[in-house]
Amino acid sequence: MPVRNDLSALEGYHSPQVDVRVRLNTNEAPVAPPAAFRQAYAEAVAKIEWHRYPDRGATDLRAAIAELHGVDPAMVFVANGSNEVLQTILLTFSGFGRTVATFEPTYQMHGQIARSTGATVVEGERGADFSLDIAEVRRVITEFRPHVTFLCSPNNPTGGVDSPELVREVLGLNAGLVVVDEAYGQFADWSALELVSEETPLVVTRTFSKTWSMAAARLGYLIGPKWLVAELDKVVLPYHLDTAKQIAGTLAVQYRGDMEERVRMIVAERERVVATLKTLDIEVFPSGANFVLFRTKSKTGRAVWQGLLDRSVLIRDCSGWPRLENCLRVTIGTPEEDDAFLVALTEVLK
Ligand code: PMP
Repeated sequence: MPVRNDLSALEGYHSPQVDVRVRLNTNEAPVAPPAAFRQAYAEAVAKIEWHRYPDRGATDLRAAIAELHGVDPAMVFVANGSNEVLQTILLTFSGFGRTVATFEPTYQMHGQIARSTGATVVEGERGADFSLDIAEVRRVITEFRPHVTFLCSPNNPTGGVDSPELVREVLGLNAGLVVVDEAYGQFADWSALELVSEETPLVVTRTFSKTWSMAAARLGYLIGPKWLVAELDKVVLPYHLDTAKQIAGTLAVQYRGDMEERVRMIVAERERVVATLKTLDIEVFPSGANFVLFRTKSKTGRAVWQGLLDRSVLIRDCSGWPRLENCLRVTIGTPEEDDAFLVALTEVLK
C-alpha cells in the first residue's frame, strides 16, 4: 500500500542511541529530578485508579503550569512532549493548502510535522552566524503570507536567542500564527512569554524534557490565547495525557527552586565550556541554551565526531545537515562529562 505521495520523500528524525561513557547528544538534563520528587511521584502513582480514564482536561496540571507562569489555566495547553504540542498546533492551523514558514537551519521537526499535515513549508535563511535578519523574515512573510511562522529561541541546533525587538517586529508583520518554540527558554535571558495576550496571534511552547530533567515523561505545553487553546483542545485526541504523566507534571512544578538552581548550574557550566572551546581551533557559535554548536576548521566535522565517539563521547553530528557543514553540537552535561568531552576534543583536534 503506497503512502501519501507528499509523504514518500519524508525522512524520519534520527538521533542515534549508542551506548557510550559520556552522552551529550540529545540536550537532556545531565541529572535526574530531585529525590523528593521521585518519592512523591511513587506515592501518588500507587493511588491511581487504573481502570478509569485520566482527567481529560488535565485540570490540576494546567492549574500548576498556569500558576508557574502567572497566567489563566485556560491559556495552557498540555501534550505528550512539546513535539505533540507542535503537532496539534499544525493539525489545527496548517494542513493542505496552507503554508508554514521556518528559518533554517532550525529544529527539523517544525518543517517535518508541517509537511506531515500536508502543508507547504517555505524556508527562510538565517545569516552566516545563524542569527535571524528581520529583512529576510519580512521578505518571506510578505512573499508567502504563511498561516504559521516558526521562531525557535534559543534556536536548535544553533543556540542563538532572538531579541524581544525581533519577535515584536515579526508579530507586527501579519505572519499568521507565530509559534516561538522555547524548548530551551529557561536557559536564555528573556522569554517571549511576556508578549502572550488574548489579542496577539502568538503561542510559546515549552517542555519538561530539558530543564525539568523529565525527558522520559514526554510532557510539553504552550501558553497562548484562550480561544486558541480551546481550538487545540478540539483537535487533540481524547484522554491523550495519561494520569501518571499528569501527576508527574503537577508534582514537578512544586520543585521549581531545584529546577532554577539546575538552570543556573548549567548556564555557568555552559560559559565554562564555551570559554575552553574558544581556545581551540574551531568556530564557536553563541548559545543561550543547554548546548553549544561549533564548526571544525582543519579536520572535517565527521572525523572529529568519530574521534570523540572512539573515546566514548557521543555528541550530535550536524555536519551532514543542510547549511551546517562541519558543525557539531554538544549538550552541556555535568562538570565531569564536560571535562571528558573537552579533553577528548582537544586530543582529537591535535
Ligand atoms: N523543540 C525543540 C527546539 C527541541 O529541540 C525539542 C527536542 N529536541 C523539542 C521541541 C521537542 O521536545 P519534547 O518533545 O521532548 O518536549
